[in-house]
Amino acid sequence: MTDRSRAEALDAQDTLAPYRSRFAIPDDAVIYLDGNSLGRPPGATASRLESVVRHEWGDRLIRSWTEGWMDLPLEVGDRLGTALLGARSGETVVCDSVTVNTYKALHAAMALRPGRSTVVAHRGEFPTDRYVTRSVAQARGGRVWWIGDADEVSPAPVTADLVADGLDDDVAVVLLSVVDYRSAAIADVESITRVAHEAGALVLWDCSHAVGSVPLRLHDVDADLAVGCTYKYVNGGPGSPAFVWAHERHHDALENPVPGWMGHADPFAMGPAYAPAPGIRRFMTGTPSALALAAVDEGVSLLAEAGMDAVRTKSVALTSYAVDLHDAWLASRGVELASPRDPAQRGSHVTLRHPDARLLTDALTARGVIPDFRNPDGIRIGLAPLYTSFADVHDGLAALRDLL
Ligand SMILES: *Cc1c(COP(=O)(O)O)cnc(C)c1O
Repeated sequence: MTDRSRAEALDAQDTLAPYRSRFAIPDDAVIYLDGNSLGRPPGATASRLESVVRHEWGDRLIRSWTEGWMDLPLEVGDRLGTALLGARSGETVVCDSVTVNTYKALHAAMALRPGRSTVVAHRGEFPTDRYVTRSVAQARGGRVWWIGDADEVSPAPVTADLVADGLDDDVAVVLLSVVDYRSAAIADVESITRVAHEAGALVLWDCSHAVGSVPLRLHDVDADLAVGCTYKYVNGGPGSPAFVWAHERHHDALENPVPGWMGHADPFAMGPAYAPAPGIRRFMTGTPSALALAAVDEGVSLLAEAGMDAVRTKSVALTSYAVDLHDAWLASRGVELASPRDPAQRGSHVTLRHPDARLLTDALTARGVIPDFRNPDGIRIGLAPLYTSFADVHDGLAALRDLL
């Protein structure tokens, strides 16, 4: 089971294996186990960006805005939304960062529940989400009701019961991650959305660690709003813009608290007052980056072509293999698995805890194996289904075993 030949056999059977060659990977590549923080570049991205610079920008200059750039945030949003989020056309826009989008979406969601002032969020939520949640709740005269455990890298997914305990008739919005960035535990999106709705609250889902690794059905589960990253499993590049999704039933009532001209119904009328664009476009703020959107588009294309069901199947196989190697090699050497054992509850990374996680991560990096360190004692092994091979998992965890 731990023999390298097993990894080679799994790679030989892997229907997504050819996608690795669609990424720009140097011959002497490191073993990259951090695609959950920054994905690798698709091979087509460099030439796409060159073409945008040379032709769309260099030749067409300002004309490119009306020849396509203006609609890119919605076009790329639609491609991303339909392929990765289970969105209907017109529900997704790509713009700004997750932080800014969380700010906008949370303000807008709270405004849809006048008379209610509480936001329910998880103590162990990603820092930027916690900071923004506290700030938005305060700005609107409300408060945050924190649920769950702060310090534990807890493998237990957030359940509908845990959320239901925090709900009362003052809760306007529940903000949660679909995949916990610490443990990779997957929240039960459908049940949590239902219990929140039963209590009269809305749910804002942060899909940063789920988009491009776990198939989502946001429209069909009747979710309200969502945000997420494109530089992790979507491979859009460092700092690539995030997305905002909102169910179409909310569009007419949603107000962007950053009413910029690009979310205006008629930006070039330069009118005296703000009037929101119809639909999800109103969540735009300022001028979008045509270069960054082109890069996001390349990342989305590869995932759309592979299909999220195949991506999920490979993701489960990769993380299951990593768990097997943990059990065989690492558990007896002081490592604790901090991700769910049940693959149905696990996203696309596996978190290993060890008191020397910091030193081990540095030593692995020095040997050409790049995982991700999470304070204080977590080593995250991020497995990106389109380019991580089973041999990568084997060789990376063998290096960790040898160090221990
Ligand atoms: C990666 C991540 C972010 C990042 O936010 P940015 O504003 O894009 O830096 C936010 N929330 C979660 C849950 C994340 O995983």
